[in-house]
Amino acid sequence: MKSFKMFIGNKWVESSSGKMIETKNPANMEVLAKFPRATATDVDKAVQAAREAFEATEGREIIPAERSRILFKIASVIRENKDELAELETLDMGKPLTQAYADVEVAARYFEYFGGAADKILGETIPINSEMLDYTVREPFGVTAHIVPWNYPLQMTARSVAPALAAGNTVVVKPAEDTSITTLKIAELIKQTDLPTGVFNVVTGYGYEAGDALSSHPDIDHITFTGSVPTGTSVMKNAAKHIKSLTLELGGKSPNIVFADANLEEAADWVVRTLIQNTGQTCTAGSRLLVEKSIKDEFLEKVTGIMSRVTIGPGIEDKQMGPVVSEKQMDTLVNYMKVADEEGTEIIRGGKSIEGMTSGLFFEPTLVIPKSKDSRLAQEELFGPVVAAFEFETLEEALELANSTDYGLVTGIWTSNINTALWLSQRVRSGQVFVNNYGAGGGVEMPFGGQGKSGFGREKGLESLKHYTQVKNVAIKISR
Ligand code: NAD
Repeated sequence: MKSFKMFIGNKWVESSSGKMIETKNPANMEVLAKFPRATATDVDKAVQAAREAFEATEGREIIPAERSRILFKIASVIRENKDELAELETLDMGKPLTQAYADVEVAARYFEYFGGAADKILGETIPINSEMLDYTVREPFGVTAHIVPWNYPLQMTARSVAPALAAGNTVVVKPAEDTSITTLKIAELIKQTDLPTGVFNVVTGYGYEAGDALSSHPDIDHITFTGSVPTGTSVMKNAAKHIKSLTLELGGKSPNIVFADANLEEAADWVVRTLIQNTGQTCTAGSRLLVEKSIKDEFLEKVTGIMSRVTIGPGIEDKQMGPVVSEKQMDTLVNYMKVADEEGTEIIRGGKSIEGMTSGLFFEPTLVIPKSKDSRLAQEELFGPVVAAFEFETLEEALELANSTDYGLVTGIWTSNINTALWLSQRVRSGQVFVNNYGAGGGVEMPFGGQGKSGFGREKGLESLKHYTQVKNVAIKISR
């Protein structure tokens, strides 16, 4: 079992309490590694290191072209170490190796993409009158805090850290307690680059302890939180105490809306793909399926047929679907199936854990038909390979169903009618809309984020840089 330390001020450190947390391989429940359980004191040290680094460099002194060069270097060391990173991500999180390799590549792409943007963060000149020169500059916030979930540790770390660094901030990252290893590995790789001391720091530990201390710290300037709605609410309260700006990337209950005129083979394939990716533990999982009534039976048959051919096994064996991340997550799924029973939900396929597999953390790809769009299985994020299906007859009904949850993250529309696609995409409450494709997590270039309880602020794309900078307006009176 490997023992890790945290990364604060360019040094590897233990927790001030000396306590450690163990992480398990969910494919066999063996302990994989241990890492420090950070206290509020450790968090404070990390924030101080980041503050000192920001003040030493003032975010501006590492000139943008130099930032760009360093971010490109980080992308390249990530790629050079892709085998180790992918294997660790798979062992720690459970995802199939192919997915882990894709995550490593996406992580590298974030550093590359925002490396390319670092020297293109522009202000504007604003016409007032001939006696005034008015312009804006985009300045870094200072110290940014990044609280990362367990489902895509590498991708989520890179997604917010890369634009924050590109904009000239210094950062403190808190990975999830279930999956901290690869974020610490990224720190190891970043240490090999010329990133100045204290610009990148990692504290590991529990959410209620280290995460709470980080989000309520008075000396951070911006928080990016990716995780569940209840924790997001608590982080928002902490941010409010010291008036800190916030990006909240929360959950989803995203629909795939399938019309009779769609390419049904392709749509069915994607419906399953977007569900089983990361064992359904993806914020953008296509966890609702809205099907036009005339093709409902035929389409659900196609979907269940594909589900039954999904290969399942430990991530390291690189089957299509791995285990869920933890016993806690499995309990959540099992409990939801009890709720399904109580609510009179029809279970068309699946609905239970798979017996006889190594750790017991494997769950069947599942298709259910809830009694109503208001039932818990239709409204709540299960975070597993469970899709809730509904039928509709008219466009208006499809829209009503699509917008019937508090979430608004991603919508997939499957149709060959451009008017149907455009009419719906203008009206669905959703941060992203995909027509005849579905981008669960893909595309570092596309702005991504939620509406409603899926959160606010945008990650990915150039849009993301707006959330790691603040605008200063300078007005100069011209006299002669
Ligand atoms: P979570 O909310 O339990 O934890 C997320 C992070 O917050 C972890 O690092 C955790 O340690 C920390 N945390 C927990 N309690 C905290 C507290 N009181 N104060 C501060 N930090 C605290 O979420 P999770 O179970 O790790 O992740 C699953 C959730 O994340 C799902 O709802 C999923 O949809 C969402 N998610 C959203 C996106 C997105 O981009 N919208 C991406 C991935 C995951």
